[in-house]
Amino acid sequence: MFIDVHAHLDNVRFDEDLDMVVKNAKLSKVEKIITAGYDLKSSFKDVEIANRFENVFATVGVHPENVEDLENDYLEKLETLLKNKKVVAVGEIGLDYHFRCDNKELQKKVFVEQIDLANHFKLPIVVHSRDAMGDTLEILKKHRAEFGGLMHCFSGSVEMAREFMKLSFSFSFGGVTTFKNAKNVLKTVEEIPIEKIMLETDCPYMTPEPHRGERNEPKFVPFIAEKIANIKNIKIDEVEKITTQNAKKLFKI
Ligand SMILES: [Zn+2]
Repeated sequence: MFIDVHAHLDNVRFDEDLDMVVKNAKLSKVEKIITAGYDLKSSFKDVEIANRFENVFATVGVHPENVEDLENDYLEKLETLLKNKKVVAVGEIGLDYHFRCDNKELQKKVFVEQIDLANHFKLPIVVHSRDAMGDTLEILKKHRAEFGGLMHCFSGSVEMAREFMKLSFSFSFGGVTTFKNAKNVLKTVEEIPIEKIMLETDCPYMTPEPHRGERNEPKFVPFIAEKIANIKNIKIDEVEKITTQNAKKLFKI
């Protein structure tokens, strides 16, 4: 079986046929799915979805693009969600300087507050980092994620990956690995030991080849597994087995 460690089942594009999406995932051996919140509203919806399907789990958190106009009591609201047994991590949280870097301090503050929250609840974190790898590393060195963490859709260099591994982070890869212009990512995948790798779709975004242009779904995880097997020159069964073990261990699912 496979595990999709990062999906957005709360997305409106799944509203019509979510039952079918979860069922089709199972038919493709993607038996567990972690659906990731990125603000309060999506976090609530993801927990609701996790409660509806026994094989779906949720992460709750505020993504760095959503730190403006954040409610003062957002941590308390996240705390109520974190008491739910189906919530397996705090995420996605982190830093994103791609679209704006005029609010770096606010992004950092919200990131740190949520690392502390994860530590308090004895849960791992799921990190989003875009054009902000150095600052992300600096924060994680100072504010350790005591129960581990995952760098999702990792786009950093091999050197950066080594630094995050020292902090006992794992990495998840998705559709980008199947794109033709993904040379840097391939090099990183090659260098990171398979014991540190998990599979994700980030659906409905980032659809892997040969389905680019369609809505992405958890059922496409095997295409990513196949690509990783090719890069690392190992059998797809091995990728399946080890990445699933890795996910089970970090998220306790
Ligand atoms: Zn995401």
